Amino acid sequence: MKVPMRDNLALMAGYHSPQVDVAVRLNVNESPLPPPPEFMARLSQEVLGLGLNRYPDRQALALREALATYHKVTPEEVFCANGSNEVLQCLLLAYGGPGRTAVSFEPTYALHSHIAHVTGTGVFQGKRDEDFCVNEQEMEVVLSQSRPSITFMCSPNNPTGTVDDPAVTERTLQLAPGLVVVDEAYGPFAGTSALAMRSRPGSERLVVVQSFSKTWALAGLRLGYAIADPAVVSALEAVVMPYHLDAFTQAAGRLALEFTDETHARVARIVSERRRVAEELANIGVRQWPSDANFILFRPVGLDGAAVWRALVDRSVLVRDCSSWVGLEGCLRVSIGTPAENDAFLEALAEAVA
Ligand SMILES: *Cc1c(COP(=O)(O)O)cnc(C)c1O
Repeated sequence: MKVPMRDNLALMAGYHSPQVDVAVRLNVNESPLPPPPEFMARLSQEVLGLGLNRYPDRQALALREALATYHKVTPEEVFCANGSNEVLQCLLLAYGGPGRTAVSFEPTYALHSHIAHVTGTGVFQGKRDEDFCVNEQEMEVVLSQSRPSITFMCSPNNPTGTVDDPAVTERTLQLAPGLVVVDEAYGPFAGTSALAMRSRPGSERLVVVQSFSKTWALAGLRLGYAIADPAVVSALEAVVMPYHLDAFTQAAGRLALEFTDETHARVARIVSERRRVAEELANIGVRQWPSDANFILFRPVGLDGAAVWRALVDRSVLVRDCSSWVGLEGCLRVSIGTPAENDAFLEALAEAVA
């Protein structure tokens, strides 16, 4: 006899992003380039001295100090975890749970509501407007109806690329009764951050989450972090597993922060490629939405999105098929790759929609 899963999870599928063996992979917003070779060489040296017979530094102090210096905050305001997804999970474990509600503005990053469900947190889904922006009136209605313990914002928003109007974030901070979590996995591509609001009223409830996966070209490392009030950091430390962040990840993250110039230069190159791809897309029969991230959401006009996705796979190009997601009917999302990968995508798309 099979043992039944928890009732509220029984019908749930895990989070999946289909991988297909193709030449050009532009489906999960990774960096198209590996980390700098000098970083890898230094990291391999550091590994030799890691002393893995010992538990890692439970406080991850050296890493948190390096992040604090980078963001001009104190280490007590930094919480690190295995990818920003684990940060989000800890936030929901500490501040969500049965009898509490988290708010998201859809369409947005699926993991916000997914992890909320897993942790038994109620989910209240607000809607974005036609341009995929969070509109102030909608936000006010949603907050007063749901009184959430956590309000998730995402800027730039995945999968739409939209950046939140700072006035809306500030208003949310004033009105939301609980934490306001701004997921900035793509923040450096936009060059704006809610961290600028850390001196405003209500900012003790502001949590900014960033990731090494996209801008730092370290998706394989699994490192993300939150910048928040020290009381929030303590709450996250209370729910996370002891020694959750291994010695290798701590060392690699700290070392990566010595390569900020290279990282910023790469971000600038991706942003300029994004502009070029957007210009070229305008000449192909698709509707696109302006993006401040390292991807672009588009919809082939008058064609079935899933069929275009298939036609791209047939040409060895993989993008993300969002065509069956609520609010994104017919849409596909392409990550910005190397110039050669982007050219391959544009050529394949032009054929697919011809
Ligand atoms: C990719 C992504 C993340 C990153 O998650 P990691 O666990 O750090 O790899 C977080 N939030 C959003 C919106 C993302 O798109």
